[in-house]
Amino acid sequence: MSKLRFDVVQDAFKKKALDVETPVARPSEYFGELVFNRDKMRKYLKPSTYDALVACIEGDKALDRDIADQVAEGMKVWAMEHGVTHITHWFQPLTEGTAEKHDSFMEYDGKGGMIEEFNGKSLFQQEPDASSFPNGGIRATFEARGYTAWDPTSPVFIQGDTLCIPTVFISYTGEALDYKTPLKRALKAVCDAATPICQMFDPNVKKVYSYLGWEQEYFLVDEDFYAARPDLMLTGRTLMGHESSKNQQLDDHYFGAIPSRVAAFMRDIEIAGYRLGIPLKTRHNEVAPNQFELAPIYGETNLSNDQNQMIMNLMNDIARKHKFVLLLHEKPFAGINGSGKHNNWSLGTDTGTLLLAPGKDPLGNLQFVTFFVNVLMAVQKHNALLKASIATATNAHRLGANEAPPAIISSFLGKTMTEVLRKLLEMPSDTPIEIAGKTGASVGLIEIPEIFVDNTDRNRTSPFAFTGNRFEFRAVGSSANCAGAMTTLNAAVADQLLTFKADVDKEIAKGKPMTEAIMDVLKPMIADIIDTVCFDGNGYTEEWKEEAKRRGLDTEISVPEMIKEFTKPEAVEMFTRTGVYTKAELEARNEVKWEMYTKKVQIEARVLGRMAINHIIPAALTYKAKLLGIITQIKDIYPDSYKEMAKTEIKLLEKVTRLVEEIQDRVSAMVEARKAANKIENEYEKAKAYYDIAESLFAIRRPIDKLEEVVDNDMWPLPKYRELLFIS
Ligand code: ADP
Ligand code: MG
Repeated sequence: MSKLRFDVVQDAFKKKALDVETPVARPSEYFGELVFNRDKMRKYLKPSTYDALVACIEGDKALDRDIADQVAEGMKVWAMEHGVTHITHWFQPLTEGTAEKHDSFMEYDGKGGMIEEFNGKSLFQQEPDASSFPNGGIRATFEARGYTAWDPTSPVFIQGDTLCIPTVFISYTGEALDYKTPLKRALKAVCDAATPICQMFDPNVKKVYSYLGWEQEYFLVDEDFYAARPDLMLTGRTLMGHESSKNQQLDDHYFGAIPSRVAAFMRDIEIAGYRLGIPLKTRHNEVAPNQFELAPIYGETNLSNDQNQMIMNLMNDIARKHKFVLLLHEKPFAGINGSGKHNNWSLGTDTGTLLLAPGKDPLGNLQFVTFFVNVLMAVQKHNALLKASIATATNAHRLGANEAPPAIISSFLGKTMTEVLRKLLEMPSDTPIEIAGKTGASVGLIEIPEIFVDNTDRNRTSPFAFTGNRFEFRAVGSSANCAGAMTTLNAAVADQLLTFKADVDKEIAKGKPMTEAIMDVLKPMIADIIDTVCFDGNGYTEEWKEEAKRRGLDTEISVPEMIKEFTKPEAVEMFTRTGVYTKAELEARNEVKWEMYTKKVQIEARVLGRMAINHIIPAALTYKAKLLGIITQIKDIYPDSYKEMAKTEIKLLEKVTRLVEEIQDRVSAMVEARKAANKIENEYEKAKAYYDIAESLFAIRRPIDKLEEVVDNDMWPLPKYRELLFIS
């Protein structure tokens, strides 16, 4: 592709930013215009229908058939004003991304003509032919069919000519086949467990919400280069490629000026996002070249997660319009940062109190400390499980690969909160937790700042960091569905809160005042967590791995092993007690996870093997032929001294020969290992065998990357990192 590559580079540089079609209105004016939100409900539904729907959304009260028909009719009228012709149930199966099956509004009118129709039944339920979605044998074990059912808590929205109805996807016997169902169960569990605790502090609290603010990292590459990289096209990452001489070492990309073509892409995303009611807030360049980030204002976890799924779809489409391809893979390029999706998470009451932020008075502070410590306790107890919740074949390239985050779940608290916890341990249980500065001298007091102004001691190496009013779960992968992590975290916290409340009730039954009872239960917990899950040091070091092991934290690095955590007795007990997963669901999901892991690695192994044999070795042989030609010519002219005269050529020839042999041998060994692994029936054992194959891919890559340094640039058949990463 010698000439061709030069032309492609030229073309890529010439690509201009598209003129964005800027709506004349302000974002606040068109925000949510494609969402059937409360405003639309009021406008398109009768007041009594509106009231019934709101009650259904807020209280999970079922709608009767008649009302459902009226809701569907209102939605149809609204949607048709936007040119909508189809509806789909929009769901999140255990594959990546979302699934949809479109049905048009068209029906026979019974008089020889056609009409548009949409009724309550189609709003509530659809039966996609679900047999091809991964289910880990659940449908075989229970019931053959699955169906989708409307989730009224996430509003219906329009995409193109289609009305999308967010739904759960379950088997006929009620087992979850998707991400949304267990997430909703976990959100209910944490609400049910946290509310009675909040009521001890404020009897007006009726509900506790879980909040999520995701930060989506991504790469953009020029579409022409993408098309010339079979590995990117088929696996989402480069399986080979020598580091570019310049990459991120100058830190000149982070927060740098956004290239105009990228800025135009970002604006398009924002406009599309605002129309869908997604409150996008932040955009910036990330650390690696061609890496960027997008984040909204946080919101209720189920809705915020749906919006993340919507944004990932939108970004894919809109990138294409700008002649980019979006890479959501966790590690598209070796040697530079990978992409994550920080999940900023907190809990809050329906009365507007954030439970992971300091309060306004000593009682509010005690409530904050209560939730703070219980979250840490949950993270400690279930640290291995939380890691398992973000463990995938693609995220494995970030976990433990000397880059955020390490494959150990610990929590960074910062100096202030660490000191508060230590003081709480020393002081009598009835000491009030004052607001810093309000009471003068601080001797003998437990003080807490009203607001954490100082977020400067942030620790980027921590996978679960406290950042002032929330925890940031940073280990989540950029391509992941946040629900995986959010379900486990909310369930673990719910379970811990149940234990805590029962313990406090016992203390109160002994006649202790409420605040003292709470402190007495918290103290041994604080003593336990402070030297176990809490860790403010550098998470990248070897010493931390040793130290974490001593502390009893999980240090497993193999993804197939991590996944096993979900079916261990402690996990099954926690998930069943909170009603989030049944044992059968956990077992089925693990089957799916192992299978997915195996398939991902299998695809990578195939692509790498074929590229090595069909692309790389032929290029190396062409170069070898060129070298041999030169050597022969030299020998013709200088038969006696050619070895001296062609010293460089001979050295290069030997190097190329050695590397080609190495590649050939390693590919053959990998193919044999694959054949053996493919015979294994058990999904866990098979995934374990594929874990070893995944490791062997590095050994194949190494000689290929060395060849890239040696072979004539004109003969190299693939776009190089310097081209993939520096054109935007
Ligand atoms: P960072 O400095 O961590 O990169 P960003 O501004 O990129 O911060 O993203 C922070 C995210 O955390 C945003 O989505 C923000 O809305 C969210 N967030 C802020 N407070 C909370 C909270 N209490 N609960 C959940 N998410 C929150
Ligand atoms: Mg952040």
